[in-house]
Amino acid sequence: MLKSDLPADVARAASIIRQGGLVALPTETVYGLAGNALDTSVVQRIYAAKGRPSDNPLIVHVRSFDDIGQVAQDVPDVARALAEGWWPGPLTVVLPKNPAIPGEVTGGGPTVAVRSPDHPAFQQVLDAAGVPLAAPSANTAGKPSPTTARHVWEDLRGKIDAVLDGGPCRVGVESTVVSLVTDPPRLLRPGGVSLEELWDVLGYVEVDPAVSGDMTSGEAPGSPGMKYRHYAPAAPVTAVTGTPVNALRYLLDRVENNPDVAVVCFDEDLGFLGPLREESDDLVVIPYGSQEDPDALSHGLFEALRTADGSGADYILVRCPESNDGLYRAVRNRILKAAAFQEAVL
Ligand code: AMP
Ligand code: MG
Repeated sequence: MLKSDLPADVARAASIIRQGGLVALPTETVYGLAGNALDTSVVQRIYAAKGRPSDNPLIVHVRSFDDIGQVAQDVPDVARALAEGWWPGPLTVVLPKNPAIPGEVTGGGPTVAVRSPDHPAFQQVLDAAGVPLAAPSANTAGKPSPTTARHVWEDLRGKIDAVLDGGPCRVGVESTVVSLVTDPPRLLRPGGVSLEELWDVLGYVEVDPAVSGDMTSGEAPGSPGMKYRHYAPAAPVTAVTGTPVNALRYLLDRVENNPDVAVVCFDEDLGFLGPLREESDDLVVIPYGSQEDPDALSHGLFEALRTADGSGADYILVRCPESNDGLYRAVRNRILKAAAFQEAVL
């Protein structure tokens, strides 16, 4: 475990990557498992360490828009406008791929996903490594993404060369992914940059049906990753959405019928659920933030899901915001994905 505030450790991380190794690095979204995006065997090791299906492509990270030509080609003007607005930051754009990027990075496809991460240690490693870095979330495929170095260690110890500990990630959910190879542009994954913010620059943006779980159209999702039950604990999850009175009545009913349940709830629910926890030794209650504060919910969600999973509960209920505004859309999307779109709407 290396420390991101120690320059010698950051230099060590970059040196491991230059020699073809894999290092988990902090970003503002979640920890990324980074390796040289131009080296096919490194990229193959990333998939192997995560147990990730090879048809689920990786995001490539660059220092700034100036380096985008190393990764993509035929870059449209709107990509520059987006980068001016949000890079470095939690926004990934999908563009035609540069031939220098191995097909292994892009799942064999003609497009590449690219972003510039907003974390000083990641930027320093990019600088020192001198190559674009492929970096998917540094979790075992199917687990919630890691938002602390400890989460990375739990999943990938022995499979990667080092973790650079930069403390908990600020945003806590993965980047927004928007495809610029479609007309109109398409939101493939909601994240730290909201749909409303994208509208301001791009005008109309289509939302991929996979974002809301509507796969009934039979269309392949625009982002291959969206077809996997990602971000998910091992125990079955139900998203609980509705007014406080209805949602809490539902929770009470489920908790009474099934004591081995973990409830991931809003801070506001603690007044109601706290006393129940005192009555039942088996009930696990994990608050993940105030329902009024989407930043807090986004920041706390994955840690709470991991805690729920680690509690040994055989069933997990997650209080889900009703709103799709701003960052709430990303929070809702990750909860629904963890729940394989099982949602109790009350
Ligand atoms: P992660 O690396 O865990 O943050 O996941 C990356 C996400 O970006 C996955 O959902 C991928 O399917 C998606 N992605 C990566 N490359 C592409 C691409 N070329 N086209 C569409 N989606 C992509
Ligand atoms: Mg991931």
